[in-house]
Amino acid sequence: QYAKSNKLEYQIYDKQIDQHTVERLQLINGLKSAIESDQLVLYYQPKLCLKKNAVIKVEALVRWAHPEKGMIPPDVFIPIAEKTGQMNALTRWVLETAIKQYKQWRAKGIELGIAINISAENLKDSSFCQWVLNTISQHQVPISAFTLEITEDAVVSDLDSAIMQLSYWRAKGLKLSIDDFGTGYSSLGQLKQLPVDEVKIDRSFVQQLMSNTDDQIIVKSTIELAHNLNLFVVAEGVENQDTLDWLRERGCEMAQGYHLSKPISGSDLETWLLQSEYFYHSTPQVQI
Ligand code: C2E
Ligand code: MG
Ligand code: MG
Ligand code: MG
Repeated sequence: QYAKSNKLEYQIYDKQIDQHTVERLQLINGLKSAIESDQLVLYYQPKLCLKKNAVIKVEALVRWAHPEKGMIPPDVFIPIAEKTGQMNALTRWVLETAIKQYKQWRAKGIELGIAINISAENLKDSSFCQWVLNTISQHQVPISAFTLEITEDAVVSDLDSAIMQLSYWRAKGLKLSIDDFGTGYSSLGQLKQLPVDEVKIDRSFVQQLMSNTDDQIIVKSTIELAHNLNLFVVAEGVENQDTLDWLRERGCEMAQGYHLSKPISGSDLETWLLQSEYFYHSTPQVQI
């Protein structure tokens, strides 16, 4: 009896692996053409400045609008892109699309800085890193309007070269952010050395903030630590108004999360912003 049921389970398991492998192969093959044929879509999620009560930045988050499988989330295909050498092509598409969107918004009088996510794979390639700077300057958009978010993990995995790369970017005026902070086992000594502007507290510490006193202690000390190192703090995963108020009272600079908006298309974000209380009317800038 046992042996029999074991065997059956084994067969089912095998089949699942096969199915999984087939799907993975389909995704690997499809990704290259997806990048080339504009099947990727950038969504944008507002980053609310808690002092100004205004949205002056957004984070760009990529999705794959697959013709048969529907919207595929980045957690599924980013790891594939990383393992199959397609991460530079993907991030190129993301930055170019973000720059276009930045210009479209600006032409309508909407000044929004855009943050894009950079993978550890991108950091390994110095010509790619140079490409980022060249592309922004060729498009004649202000470099300070762009933030690169790099996960704590990616930075710590090769600390010395990451520090070199980040310093160079920052010297040229890019804003830099440590993403998913608190999940990547970096030491305080390492954090101190990082040439960055902001840390983003991982959403796992923020989502249940109101009901979890441990999370409150962690977030409060992270804010204090970051401020002592002259870093701005962004809390991600803010899902209710109480959390937003709590963070504002403790001096957190920015909040991002479903409470404000999920990531949405560029035109939806525009509509959302213009009818929200968070639209920031900046003084008109002289175009050169
Ligand atoms: P991330 O950079 O930490 O982005 C934040 C993720 O948290 C996003 O998931 C966002 O939709 C989600 N999120 C934001 N607020 C809330 C909230 O209040 N509640 C909950 N439950 N979730 C919230 P998304 O868009 O699925 O992206 C997942 C991850 O995929 C990103 O994490 C980032 O690491 C990666 N990713 C996305 N786009 C890109 C990209 O263009 N390049 C690279 N290298 N990675 C990307
Ligand atoms: Mg991010
Ligand atoms: Mg994050
Ligand atoms: Mg993340």
